[in-house]
Amino acid sequence: MEKVDENIEIAVLGGVGFNSYQEFESQPIHTPYGEVTAYLTTIKGKTIAVIPRHAGENHIPPHRINYRANIWAVHSVGAERVISTNSVGSMRGHPVGSFVVLDDFIDFTRNRPSTFYDDRTVHVDVSEPYCPEIRTALRAALEKQGLSYTEGIYACTEGPRFETRAEIRMMSQFADVVGMTGVPEVNLAKELSLCYASLAIITNQACGMTTQKLTADEVTDVVGKAQDAIFEIISDTIENIPKTRNCRCRFAKEGACL
Ligand SMILES: [Zn+2]
Repeated sequence: MEKVDENIEIAVLGGVGFNSYQEFESQPIHTPYGEVTAYLTTIKGKTIAVIPRHAGENHIPPHRINYRANIWAVHSVGAERVISTNSVGSMRGHPVGSFVVLDDFIDFTRNRPSTFYDDRTVHVDVSEPYCPEIRTALRAALEKQGLSYTEGIYACTEGPRFETRAEIRMMSQFADVVGMTGVPEVNLAKELSLCYASLAIITNQACGMTTQKLTADEVTDVVGKAQDAIFEIISDTIENIPKTRNCRCRFAKEGACL
């Protein structure tokens, strides 16, 4: 594990179309799971590492993202908090471009390395998957910006195809939004006792919610247009996060190991 900068406090894991990092200083981070490129900057007096989830030679598809390397990199640079941005489809008719602060998830992924613990048994606690302190900071940031948002449950699918109408009918019984990148990232963060929360942006209505065909272009387009707003929300969130952690995220592994 290498220490890049002792002072990195918060990591931002950016989703589709999140390009706000491009002018920052790039920093390679070696992990047991592969190399990660982080982009370092200072926001509101705090040193931040931005890791673009899909960045690579080509746009990395959701099922091939190296989630373990990304979360290991966050931990290895000493950051204890992760703010994630995820583009999602709405199963509740949320307006496109509006925001959802995730408060729970349901996992439909199938073929992803989903744990750091393959050689021992660790049942990490996910009764509160998203950090309450970061969520409070996110809500305050959205309110300050006067942006409409809700809170809701995220269904994570394997992809890379979009969901069928029947799948959305089923998932809409117990989740509000659907995406492909939130899991296993949130669980891996828990396994390393990090605080993790997600700002989801509605990029489209889920399959069968409208008569329109789903396209990947509209996803990139919506996030691209909301770029400045997303950056402002994240900056304010970073400012709002208390210096010391008072949440229970750091105890996620207490009593978890057999
Ligand atoms: Zn926390």
